[in-house]
Amino acid sequence: STPGGSKVQEENILVTVRMRPLSSKELASYELVAWDIPDEHTIVSKNLAHDRNAGSGSYMFDKVFGPTCSTSKVYEAGARDVALSALSGINATIFAYGQTSSGKTFTMRGITEYAVKEIYEHINNTQQREFSIKFSAMEIYNETVIDLLNKDSGSLRLLDDHERGTVVDKLTEETISNPQHLKHLIGVCEAQRQVGETALNDKSSRSHQIIRLTIESSLRDDKECIKSFLASLNLVDLAGSERAAQANTVGMRLKEGSHINKSLLTLTTVIRKLSSGNKSGHIPYRNSKLTRILQTSLGGNARTAIICTMSPALVHMEQSRNTLLFATNAK
Ligand code: ADP
Ligand code: MG
Repeated sequence: STPGGSKVQEENILVTVRMRPLSSKELASYELVAWDIPDEHTIVSKNLAHDRNAGSGSYMFDKVFGPTCSTSKVYEAGARDVALSALSGINATIFAYGQTSSGKTFTMRGITEYAVKEIYEHINNTQQREFSIKFSAMEIYNETVIDLLNKDSGSLRLLDDHERGTVVDKLTEETISNPQHLKHLIGVCEAQRQVGETALNDKSSRSHQIIRLTIESSLRDDKECIKSFLASLNLVDLAGSERAAQANTVGMRLKEGSHINKSLLTLTTVIRKLSSGNKSGHIPYRNSKLTRILQTSLGGNARTAIICTMSPALVHMEQSRNTLLFATNAK
């Protein structure tokens, strides 16, 4: 049985949608809620007269989480199995995808906290195995990779290693001694991300953050360490989807210096190709930094969960619809 005690799912990409509550600002400006969640798998547009495109919208997913749903529930149904698969040697990636202010960072912080907690519970309950965890974190901004644990490192290069795939050259990897140490490092990365944020106003809406836990384990009584596991869990807070969604709809081409996010656009293509079932076809992992870094943790034998976050507000209807279309393509 897999850690967490649940059965292995057949599909490789778990797609869920989380609609946050109206914010106090949205409430203060009498924003209308544009969506209904009739059951835990379905989200429907309310067909409000204000919405020109009304009537076209019922979408189904593995799970749809409504505004009163806690992050702990989102974790259980939308991330848990994927996160814990990294304990048994299966690479895993959990993404939050959605427009800016839809709840990506809010969701990923909680997911990371629950994943860390459960990983340590599992380690403490598995005395027969010896575990080691390494932590690293990076940010991708304008196709530049930055080490969130070493702010002076500058832009990091990607190297091709024939055994390990793409490696981020000179990326800091800290060996974790206990859960408090891990929490501390996550805090350091968050602070680092916020420093960048004040320097450049909409940076968080344009940058991707990857927190990576590399988990290794072997049987304690096995001198030769034959039954060893090694896998990464990648926790990814993506850039805001608003520009990529626009580029996809109008079929814009990527140009140097364009404000469209190459990594996000390539990721949407990679996800769409992976989920279309045509896994023999060419998958353009190499077209962006994000997809190169995540290549061995996407598709193939890896497990992926995508949590699509959205605002309930009618003013954001168009972007929410784009998010639901992305989510539909990812299934
Ligand atoms: P993003 O990272 O997508 O830009 P944030 O995670 O920063 O969005 O969320 C925007 C705001 O909405 C924040 O103030 C956050 O605390 C709040 N928020 C997001 N999701 C929820 C939720 N499910 N419940 C309550 N507040 C939320
Ligand atoms: Mg954010």
